[in-house]
Amino acid sequence: MADAILPDHDRYKSVLLFGAPGAGKGTQGAILGRIPGFYHTSCGDVFRNIDIHSELGRVFYEYSSRGELVPDEITVRMWAQTIHARTVLGDYKPHDDLLILDGIPRTLHQAELMDDHIEVLQVIHLICRDHDAMFQRLRRRALKQNRFDDADEKVIRQRWQVYEQETFPVLSHYPDELIVEIDSIGSPGAILHQILNQVVPVQNTHFAAFAGA
Ligand code: ADP
Repeated sequence: MADAILPDHDRYKSVLLFGAPGAGKGTQGAILGRIPGFYHTSCGDVFRNIDIHSELGRVFYEYSSRGELVPDEITVRMWAQTIHARTVLGDYKPHDDLLILDGIPRTLHQAELMDDHIEVLQVIHLICRDHDAMFQRLRRRALKQNRFDDADEKVIRQRWQVYEQETFPVLSHYPDELIVEIDSIGSPGAILHQILNQVVPVQNTHFAAFAGA
């Protein structure tokens, strides 16, 4: 039998940044994370910071270099340990900060496992109908950040396929009224503006320190 979900006051209040590889989740998440009262974590960054010679580092390399997802249980366990560590360090303060998640959950099973840990208040779906534009973004990122998983066109295509087959269905796990669609083509500033229009009211509603501030 599955464990009971924790009561709301024990789950991390979260907004999900959702979208295909190259939609700009990382860019937007990093900017939001600089604003007091928001705490951003990218699942891909958490994985990339793991020592490549450790057991988990090797598992990450094995899957990500093929453009595949790391298995669900390992991913959610790793994520939960990381976020717990950050609360212990006082880096992330669950009672003050709205958690901005990027890159997790990426499968329906992960979404179910994550229900134990997070209370999802909103899903920002960065949509992109222009695949060529996304492809160009990924190529630029590969050159700038020296990322092995973006450098190869075959791997990029594989990651899109994984997104369409495994990640896109995650949206069906959340009620429609929590999902907001924002076009991911445009300047980072213009997209940020639209995201803030959505997430600031969520922050005001759920965090007393910011209401009326
Ligand atoms: P992108 O958003 O561009 O796909 P990320 O930096 O988020 O890239 O992730 C890089 C790699 O890390 C993924 O291809 C995958 O192998 C692994 N990864 C990241 N997040 C998850 C997740 N939630 N579940 C499984 N694997 C993940």
